[in-house]
Formats: sequence, C-alpha cells, structure tokens
Amino acid sequence: MTPRSLQRVIASVAASDGAGVKLRRSLGASPLARHDPFLMLDEFYSDDPDDYLAGFPAHPHRGFETVTYMLDGHMRHRDSGGNTGDLGPGDVQWMTAARGIVHSEMPQQTAGRMRGFQLWLNLPAKEKMKPAAYRDIAAADIPVAEAANGVRVKVIAGTLEQSGGTTAGPIHGLSTDPRYFDVMLPARTSFEASVPEGYSVFLYAYEGEATVGDERKPLPYRAAGLLSDGDTVRIEAGGAGARVLLLAGKPIGEPIVQYGPFVMNTREEIEQAIADYQSGAIAKAPVRRIRTA
Ligand code: FE
Repeated sequence: MTPRSLQRVIASVAASDGAGVKLRRSLGASPLARHDPFLMLDEFYSDDPDDYLAGFPAHPHRGFETVTYMLDGHMRHRDSGGNTGDLGPGDVQWMTAARGIVHSEMPQQTAGRMRGFQLWLNLPAKEKMKPAAYRDIAAADIPVAEAANGVRVKVIAGTLEQSGGTTAGPIHGLSTDPRYFDVMLPARTSFEASVPEGYSVFLYAYEGEATVGDERKPLPYRAAGLLSDGDTVRIEAGGAGARVLLLAGKPIGEPIVQYGPFVMNTREEIEQAIADYQSGAIAKAPVRRIRTA
C-alpha cells in the first residue's frame, strides 16, 4: 500500500464569472494551476442575492466537460439544443461540451443561499470534437456509502473502493475515468479509499478541518490540495468534522491551449472555435441528452 500525501496547495482566490457571480477559484486560477485532466474548480457560496442573481447568461463551451454540483439553491440550465434542466440541492449536471454548446445557467431564487461547485474536466484530442451531450443527475440517484464510523460519501462519478466494499456512481465509462466523491466526516473520524496509481488526485475542503495521509498534513480550507502518487487516499477530520471533495482522474498528457470557455490542443483550434462561435455554428450543433436511470 502506498498512501498518497499532500504535495501542493492551490489556494482559492476571489473571482467573478458569468454576469458577475462571485465565487472562489482554486484550480484554474492560472494556467499553472491545473491538475491534468482537471482544468478548474469554482466554489460558489453566498447568502447575498447580489452575489449570484446575475447568473451565467448564454455563453459557449468547446473541448471539455463541465460538472455542476449544487449544495444549496436552485439553478435552471438551458442550452442551444433546446434542453432545459433544473438543478436543486444535491443535484448534478454533467455536461460534455465537446464540439460545442451555448447555454445559460440562471438562479431560480431571489433570496437565500446559493452554494455549489463547477468543475471543468478536460477531454482528450480525439474526443474534443464529438457531439455535445449532457445529463442531469437527481440527488436521489447519487448513491451514498456509509461506513461504521459515520463517514458518508456521495459517489457522483466512478467507483468508490473501500475495505468495506465498493459503491458505483451514476457516471462511468469516460476516458479520463473520473472519480468525484463528496466525503462527509464527523469529528475525528477518518476515511480511506483506493485510487489507482498514476491518476491525478486532489482534495477540496469546503467545511471544517482535515488532514491528509500518514503525515497528517493539514488541508487548508477552500483550497485544492494536490496529492502525490500512490494507491490510497486517507483523510482525517478535526474536532469540528469536515466535508471534502475528492477528485481523481486519468491524466491526458496533451498540450492545452485555453481561451476563456474554449479548451483545445492548438492555437489554430482555438481560432476555429472562436470563428465557429461567431458564425453561429456552435449554437446550431446538436446536443444529446443522456438520461441516467
Ligand atoms: Fe457554462
């Protein structure tokens, strides 16, 4: 067994996206702050409607996947393929933008808390131009693994492998083989899971305090903690308990050229993406809706 340890911390910075939604960006805050295949992680969390009401009006994406995980609040998604979807607490939207999509993500509330995450997951060159697809995953369809010590894990993507058994999430079969777990630890409990060697792994503590690995290195609050290679991830919660996202995926190892919402391999492909957006070609491309049963 090779436990992974905390190797690098990418602090989150205050950022604003869409029409002015305030958020914390850790991964993706700069081109050097990526963790292949993960491009970006934004956390939005506010009780002040002024921070989120403007939402994310129509905008394009090409070349990667966006994953929205709501904790609190209500957002409505609408895309150029004519699809709409509502995201409420605990719901996930997994959107494979690939060749391209134009969509909006708008708050459906004028008061209260809006809280959640958006992750950007890269696609390999051979999949960047496949047709766009998306799936809405209801909170009720996301399995929760519960251990004897009270640790609960929502398995959004991939398979959670623990000594007590395995739990498969609704998203699987992607080439980056992502694992997306929301780990909820009561005070002074620990969580341990196997993650294949060679996969990139990072953690994001969004509540409480936690330490990582056998050395118990502290995982800073609201920061992406990138782990060293190994086959096991171990997290221990402090006295107040903790909630930690665990993301793992197979690195792609290809060059990345990003221009805002377009992530391709070369500058020429970015220029093509801009041209295709301006000509309306991205907005006209079909979007496949995948139903997750
Ligand atoms: Fe978007």
